[in-house]
Amino acid sequence: MKALITGGAGFIGSHLAERLLAAGYRVVAIDDLSTGSEANIRRLLGRADFQFVLETITNETVMDRLVSECDIIFHLAAAVGVELIVRDPVHTIETNVLGTGTVLRIANRYRRKTILASTSEIYGKSNDAPFREDGDRVMGPTTRSRWAYANSKAMDEFLALAYHKQRGLPVVICRFFNTIGPRQTGRYGMVVPRFVRQALAGEPLTVYGDGSQSRCFADVADVTGAVLRLAEHAGAVGQVFNLGSTEEITILDLARRVIALTGSRSEIVLVPYEEAYEPGFEDMHRRVPDISRAAALIEYRPRCTLDDTLRRIIAHFREFASV
Ligand code: UDP
Repeated sequence: MKALITGGAGFIGSHLAERLLAAGYRVVAIDDLSTGSEANIRRLLGRADFQFVLETITNETVMDRLVSECDIIFHLAAAVGVELIVRDPVHTIETNVLGTGTVLRIANRYRRKTILASTSEIYGKSNDAPFREDGDRVMGPTTRSRWAYANSKAMDEFLALAYHKQRGLPVVICRFFNTIGPRQTGRYGMVVPRFVRQALAGEPLTVYGDGSQSRCFADVADVTGAVLRLAEHAGAVGQVFNLGSTEEITILDLARRVIALTGSRSEIVLVPYEEAYEPGFEDMHRRVPDISRAAALIEYRPRCTLDDTLRRIIAHFREFASV
């Protein structure tokens, strides 16, 4: 089997590439390196069963050739990271909506199964945690840039499901919840690599708001393993799956945990949301997945504890001193 990974030089994409290669797939990764990086796939570059294409997914000619030559598509290329989205909403909307439109149209041309990476942002500021795949979505106004991300990914989901329903294209949608691991960068806002970098540098850890908001951080190894099992399961087609951890932690406790695990002398500072992002920024107070659907179909059970994952991230930062 030959797999095409869009966003294959990104954080999750590069881990998925390794996972697929280990399972015996040949892998082609396409990435424009806008947020991904060649360092993520450096170890794979010399392999005969791995190919990297530096190109954007909106290049129809290149995508047509790559899709025609593969058996399955893992579509992960997207604009991600809350900070990036608030800073550059045009890029976010265009990449996510136009890029996915191109991928699905060409996938349908060659009838290739497509696994679409989506996000827990989809649930918006719903208070109905734990979130079920068929739960309602609660969005803020269009004047707040953050919501452009959730809505662009929601359009991606709608389009994928429409191709499935109307044209019979096999699609599977995976909603990732705060996935973390080695090689994730804090440059676009993600909290765990930011805290680890700050702690190791002896800088204050910047907790936004009062830190009482909570998240469940999933290890990328657990998530990519589940993506592969869903891709290979005929019963997953046409469905949406939450993939994440159920170990919930407040952001203030996360900061304390990172300080303890790094042995850092850093302090914690509270930064108002409007300073961190933009005036009127809206955050989600609690984000917890209901993972029973993936548990029932593929026996998805996250195995890594948050402490174990944090330790591996800290070790990676110490080795590579990345951002
Ligand atoms: N956050 C924080 N300090 C940072 C970056 C993020 O306190 O330096 C908070 C952010 O406001 C949110 C949580 O950490 O409440 C998770 O943020 P992230 O961007 O990693 O993911 P999100 O869940 O918002 O998509």
